[in-house]
Amino acid sequence: MAAPATLLKAVAKEAASCTLCPLYRNATQTVFGEGPVKAALMIVGEQPGDQEDLAGHPFVGPAGKILDRAMAEAGLDRQKVYLTNAVKHFKNEPRGKKRLHKKPNRYEVEVCRVWLRQEIEVVRPQLLLALGVTAAVALAGRSVVLSKERGKVIAFADGQPGMVTVHPSSILRMPEQEARHAAFAALVADLKAAVKAVAKQAAAA
Ligand code: SF4
Repeated sequence: MAAPATLLKAVAKEAASCTLCPLYRNATQTVFGEGPVKAALMIVGEQPGDQEDLAGHPFVGPAGKILDRAMAEAGLDRQKVYLTNAVKHFKNEPRGKKRLHKKPNRYEVEVCRVWLRQEIEVVRPQLLLALGVTAAVALAGRSVVLSKERGKVIAFADGQPGMVTVHPSSILRMPEQEARHAAFAALVADLKAAVKAVAKQAAAA
């Protein structure tokens, strides 16, 4: 059996030519997950954004910068986390010179799970943290109400321990500064809870 790093590279290579759903047509490239192959924590977002699509790396755009700040405040080292998305191509709608983000539909999320599932199988993180409803539904395999379930460990599909929180892009869209600060603090609190949960799992192992 190949080493996990080799396996993950092979999956990423296969995903790069994926045409299983129509989203590859309007995107530059697949944006596969990145991070240590033995990461204890895997963070899963919705899909790459405009900048991620061009760069080919996850969480390098404005939402990624918020996540970086929140992780730093929570004492989480980005280099130790495996970061990926539920959907690997950027779904967008051209508007003039801009490409506007479009939410992936259930079919696209379901089809793209073939890659997320393989990332999880290879990395085998102790905890999965879903950012936003799309990732939460993809991981839990059921509907999820973030406000009710955030901050605590819940069982995802196949019994994997996971947590849910908001997607950092939702903070960017808030018009009021006060609301943005409160939402950012809540995201940091959820990340801290994820760090604690990972430490607890490691102690119990
Ligand atoms: S979004 Fe996912 S399933 Fe659809 S083409 Fe891209 S990699 Fe394949």
